[in-house]
Amino acid sequence: MSTFQIKGWCPGALRPMMSGDGLVVRIRPHAGRLSAAQARGIALAARAHGNGLIDLSSRANLQLRGVRSDHHDALVADLDALGLLDPDPVAESRRNIVVTPFSGATGDECMLAEELERALAASDLVLPGKFGFAIDCGRKRVLDQVSADIRIERGAGECLIVRPDGATCGVAVKADEAAATALALAKWFVESGGISDGRGRMAAHVGKGATLPRALSGETLPVASAPRPEPGFTEEGALVAVAFGSMHADTLEVLARRASELRMTPWRMIFLPAVDEIPAGLDLVTRADDPILRIEACTGAPWCPQARAKTRRLAQRLAAHVPAGATLHVSGCAKGCACARRALTLVASGEGFDLIRNGTASDRPTITGLSADQIVSDPARYLGWL
Ligand code: SF4
Repeated sequence: MSTFQIKGWCPGALRPMMSGDGLVVRIRPHAGRLSAAQARGIALAARAHGNGLIDLSSRANLQLRGVRSDHHDALVADLDALGLLDPDPVAESRRNIVVTPFSGATGDECMLAEELERALAASDLVLPGKFGFAIDCGRKRVLDQVSADIRIERGAGECLIVRPDGATCGVAVKADEAAATALALAKWFVESGGISDGRGRMAAHVGKGATLPRALSGETLPVASAPRPEPGFTEEGALVAVAFGSMHADTLEVLARRASELRMTPWRMIFLPAVDEIPAGLDLVTRADDPILRIEACTGAPWCPQARAKTRRLAQRLAAHVPAGATLHVSGCAKGCACARRALTLVASGEGFDLIRNGTASDRPTITGLSADQIVSDPARYLGWL
């Protein structure tokens, strides 16, 4: 079985992470929104300072790949000019907020995000690297399955609630109280012992029976959660996906010419308001039944230094064999970055691929040492468990 490192922190623009293909520089768009000018600027920067590849992250961020170390300062200057930088790495990592891409009747999600950003920037909170917030008060509640520790949502009767992850109900608040209440909840998490060795998540803390103060606990249920959105066109705009969450800067530039605003989502898709047509020939997925969406594959070799094999080439070759409703996970090592849930999983071991039935990348394999050609030559045999 592969060994792997858990880093426990996420890269930023000011604190990039070294990978197999150079620096990974993560850009956190404010409220998950990019203007067309910002998107064009990012595409230019990705080509000028990196290898032109851009990942969409499960935190609704973009990651420029293959950035050369001696270009990092110039890239930071470009991002600063686009209004995409935080004052320092601490403020950057604290601003871990996912915002629904779909506007609600009151359209207050961006205002809430700005207030929460300001409150976090002004605080001296030291939160774990993965600790995050979700603002999910749009037309539908869509972020329920997205990792977050504190959620601002809509409750019954259209009121706003602030809910700690892991709790069934939240406390009802007025719109101008939501950011301060979310911040108070984060402070309570820190002060009540939610962090151990620099790590900790709200759901685990609540699950251990930590008792919320009266002012932060409520009995208001969030509205029902909607199914995960799928790529396609609606009256509101286009939701486009990219295979394995990786796109080329050229594609981003084309999208920036079609849309006045690009909204990042945590599903490795981009929502383009008021767009009803996408030019053909781009590396985009606009149909929910595209088989490539049935495969989760991490970056793999040669881009990730921990990878034991190429993942995406095998994933591409197997996509047509994955039936509707099933998920195949191809992982470059046992860390399983691309998919935390149980699935039929192929994990590179250094001696081929191990096959895990209905498990995660770190589970015990059923078959070991399969070559990529072996799997592709007889997919019915190896994928028959899907
Ligand atoms: S799962 Fe993939 S991306 Fe994650 S560390 Fe392993 S090889 Fe790298």
